[in-house]
Amino acid sequence: MRPGECNKHGQELLEKVDLPSRSHPYARLWRMRCTTCDSVHECNSCDAHLRRCPFCQHGQPPEPLPEGIPGLVPGTQAQSTTRVRRRAAVQRPSTELPEPPVVRRGDSQATCFDAYIMVDWSATNGALGTDPVPNAPWVAEAWWNGCQLDWWPQRGYFRTRRLCINHLLERLRNHVKEKRRVLSCFDFAYGYPTGYGRALGLGGQAFWTSIWGEISVPTALQGMPVPPPQNEYASANNRNNRFEVASHLNHRVNLGGQPRAGPLYGCPAQNQTPFFTQASPGFPYAIGPGGALGHFRVTDQRLLDRGHHPLCCWWVLGGRAPVVGGQILTGIPAVKEIRNHPEFSKISKVWPFETGFTPSPSAGGTPCIIHAEIWPGIVNDQLQDGLIRDEAQVRAMVKWAASQDAESNFGVRFAVPEGLDDGQVSRCRHEEGWILGSG
Ligand SMILES: [Zn+2]
Repeated sequence: MRPGECNKHGQELLEKVDLPSRSHPYARLWRMRCTTCDSVHECNSCDAHLRRCPFCQHGQPPEPLPEGIPGLVPGTQAQSTTRVRRRAAVQRPSTELPEPPVVRRGDSQATCFDAYIMVDWSATNGALGTDPVPNAPWVAEAWWNGCQLDWWPQRGYFRTRRLCINHLLERLRNHVKEKRRVLSCFDFAYGYPTGYGRALGLGGQAFWTSIWGEISVPTALQGMPVPPPQNEYASANNRNNRFEVASHLNHRVNLGGQPRAGPLYGCPAQNQTPFFTQASPGFPYAIGPGGALGHFRVTDQRLLDRGHHPLCCWWVLGGRAPVVGGQILTGIPAVKEIRNHPEFSKISKVWPFETGFTPSPSAGGTPCIIHAEIWPGIVNDQLQDGLIRDEAQVRAMVKWAASQDAESNFGVRFAVPEGLDDGQVSRCRHEEGWILGSG
């Protein structure tokens, strides 16, 4: 098997770790990812072709890792020596990375932003290898240096969500010190279809913020003796409990009466509960007397109308199809953590929730950090060759944003979207959010 290939049980070889197996005398340690549940587990080179997933296919337990190995708890020092040592051993599709795109602005050009950070998030369960792979957290970043756009010179690959968040905080610190206006974007929905806040029994004028709170720090269910799960969205070993969090949220929607599954759905068989199952509950999903949750948000519908295929935010996991529900459950707490970080909270705003729809999103002051949701499908025809797809997508999104901004076309993207009535504007502004660039 070679990295990127799957065995007959859908277990993908991520990397051949340059370490001996502890269970087979002559075997080496290999790191696999389950294409069904996205869990990462270690096996050995002798039985990799036969391995089933230990988490969703009743496979044997993962291969034990030697002490002090940068497998589960990443340590930067151990990681970098391993990287150097292993370079020659692993075949990569391309070692020569293409130069980042050249983008320029006119001398006196007044752009909305001074720096752009784009993140492709990942809900993978378990730490990834040292060599870059798809479906990991990927970041691209660039900032104006006079008339030219400077790019972050390293590959934006991260083995864990925690390492990615820490990197973003460090980069934001740097930009803020330089008094820059930063646009920071992740590629998942920042809201759910209208009605979800009420269905969850949450209060407040602006449901987006109470939904972000409930996902990030789930609260006790009334009358239930069991404590709520803690959202492990960015643990050191990159394990997460998104299915548990999903089941809790569904339970909250369906408190009292007969247990009913939904609206979140999609998980391995053994993670099913009376409230959270593999199958879709069907949409619209009835809530309360006369109410229902739609399949898509207004902004998703806008992309659908244009022939795109945005993903449904209720769908947490399903076979080999790309899904986004798990990214939302692990990603909203990450954006919230960055948004509310003590160093940045006073200069940070989430668009459009906190800024409103406005052609001057960064008008509040300098420096500032504006958070916005993106969907990289809008640049799928502009991807550079020779990069891992996620990497190409975040780079293309940075290029898209900087180019629009250089041409003074960017502000309008943040204004009230064309063709929305007042009711829709209000829904998007307070609960559903909007995808930057969806029109
Ligand atoms: Zn699995």
